[in-house]
Amino acid sequence: MKRIGIMGGSFDPIHYGHLAAASQAAFSLGLDRVVFAPTNFSLNKRPKAGARDRCAMAAMATAPDPRFSVSQVDVERGGPTFAFDTVSDLSAILGPCELFFITGMDALAGMEGWKNWEDLLSMAKFVGATRPGCSTRLPEKLEGRAIVLPVPSLAISSTEIRRRVGRGEPIDYLTAPSVCRFIRFRGLYGAEFVHRVN
Ligand code: NAP
Repeated sequence: MKRIGIMGGSFDPIHYGHLAAASQAAFSLGLDRVVFAPTNFSLNKRPKAGARDRCAMAAMATAPDPRFSVSQVDVERGGPTFAFDTVSDLSAILGPCELFFITGMDALAGMEGWKNWEDLLSMAKFVGATRPGCSTRLPEKLEGRAIVLPVPSLAISSTEIRRRVGRGEPIDYLTAPSVCRFIRFRGLYGAEFVHRVN
């Protein structure tokens, strides 16, 4: 049976930390492929960039790696994104396989409040990617039921990239060159609009 990772997140924007986390998960968990699933939006917060722009950036950044792909199931469904719907829909699309839902450890910390969270644990294995300096402890109810995945490169964060763009600072080498150009071309996160891309 194939082992497939689902990278859940808002990817606002996607960066090398996400790609390193997916690659580390593929190696550590023996995954055949990893599907990035950008949220439409989460109930408690709205991403700064639109869903189509975030999907486009995820597609550009993942394109060079044949193990990676992007699914728009959450965006096409519309409304707030619940991991239960992401896993249900991708499970139906992918057919019989073993699923691993990978997201940030801080997002996973709130999993006990997620829709049908106990059912979710039987539908996929949950993986919390940790950043340097952040907690590696799972919430009590998830102990022994989810996997902690340390990822040193997750020191990069989408929040810091958005801040740097807003201050006019460079983001080269934090994310893919195509994503840097797209952010400038679309004027995302307060970037100065640049018509000609290099
Ligand atoms: P988010 O803003 O995308 O991420 C929260 C934190 O986790 C940030 O520190 C983020 O770092 C990190 N992160 C996010 N995705 C990651 C990934 N795939 N690998 C490594 N680190 C990652 O949070 P969100 O929009 O709330 O959602 C995260 C995931 O949890 C989504 O798949 C969402 O559907 C799910 N979720 C589900 C429910 C529910 O079902 N009720 C509720 C909340 C969240 P960066 O900012 O650097 O990306």
